[in-house]
Amino acid sequence: MSLPPLDETHDRHATSWAPGADGSGPFPVQNLPFCCFSTGDLGPRAGVAVGDVIVDLGAWLAACDSPQDAALADLCEGPLNALLAAGAEPRRALRRRLFALLTDPGARGELEPFLVPAAEAELHLPCEVGDYTDFYAGIHHARRVGRLFRPDSPLPPNYPWVPLAYHGRASTVVVSGTPVTRPWGQIPDTPGPRFGPTARLDFEFELAIWIGPGNPHGRPIPIAEAADHVAGFGILNDWSARDIQAWEYQPLGPFLAKSFATSVSAFVVTPEALAPFRAAALPRGPDDPLPLPYLADPADQTAGGLDLVLETYLSSRRMRAEGVPDVRIARTTSRHLWWTPAQLVAHHTSNGCQLRPGDLLGTGTISGPEPDEGGSLLELAEAGARPIALPTGETRAFLEDGDRVRLVASAQRPGFRSIGLGECWGEVVG
Ligand code: MN
Repeated sequence: MSLPPLDETHDRHATSWAPGADGSGPFPVQNLPFCCFSTGDLGPRAGVAVGDVIVDLGAWLAACDSPQDAALADLCEGPLNALLAAGAEPRRALRRRLFALLTDPGARGELEPFLVPAAEAELHLPCEVGDYTDFYAGIHHARRVGRLFRPDSPLPPNYPWVPLAYHGRASTVVVSGTPVTRPWGQIPDTPGPRFGPTARLDFEFELAIWIGPGNPHGRPIPIAEAADHVAGFGILNDWSARDIQAWEYQPLGPFLAKSFATSVSAFVVTPEALAPFRAAALPRGPDDPLPLPYLADPADQTAGGLDLVLETYLSSRRMRAEGVPDVRIARTTSRHLWWTPAQLVAHHTSNGCQLRPGDLLGTGTISGPEPDEGGSLLELAEAGARPIALPTGETRAFLEDGDRVRLVASAQRPGFRSIGLGECWGEVVG
């Protein structure tokens, strides 16, 4: 497996002349995430965020006056699919060039004409999502939700063997900040279901995995090469209507309970930026099976996991009206994922299924073993049995209209500059 090596772009002491790059924000010069942005009359195009600004990649590369840069500039039009398809090599070269320019005060004049204040940019969905698959790799989530619905067998017997997933709906993947309309559906009732608005609207904190080159139909990606097909990571909210889900999910899995909206953060944080923040795969217990050979790679087991801090914030309409800031209702770590990103990619393609540039994988809800580590309200409020108390005296078992959910992910490790994935937020509207 070829996870990117550490190099000068990870130097914690490196500073940048870019506005806001040396604050405590998520985008110091050691991060350099991609995004798709637009300004004024200029349409969506590729950018790289640093501090409070976005580098207009295509405009800068076009001005560099070399045939290679002109070809790269062509990939920067529109969503990031074409750029991510180019794979790790140009991505790493671009990172080192931008890092050198952004940390050299003498190079300021060269790059400054192509910087756009982030406050003036509109952020779009990073890629045109052709396909979206949502996994179920958070084992504490699977166990806890299983216990709520199937007390005698909380974890399905296949869980430790096979990465479980359902096929999500690409057409309703939206960028962070997009309002989420409360869905209507069949709600269990007596004597029979009725059609109405969900009363059990929930969020799910997941990581987004953006696919880079991908594979031809019929040719699986071996586990040893799978990391090369991950172009970057983001934050994903798999909004879920639990009452609709409980009624419809057997035998074919979730459908309308989740296809009404999936939010993703606007920034694609690269494997290069996350190189210092990798972790070993989750250790397995003595009774757990080892991964089958097609999912087993020593390097992936040693360093293929991700060590990110995941924090969930909630605010009600009343809290905002009273000037009360949003409250953190959960905190956990992505180390709780049972499968690594490379294992998800290898498994997904193991039958010959094609992954294409810009395809989106969700990891599944990430929860920890403690009560305040739930990746969903279903877990945090124990399916309504223990509603969460808000500072205004309001309580929440599930989301109400006007509620805003904000998911934040960040990476910290002694000896390295902290970086963030940004945030993924959405407001529930009736
Ligand atoms: Mn999910």
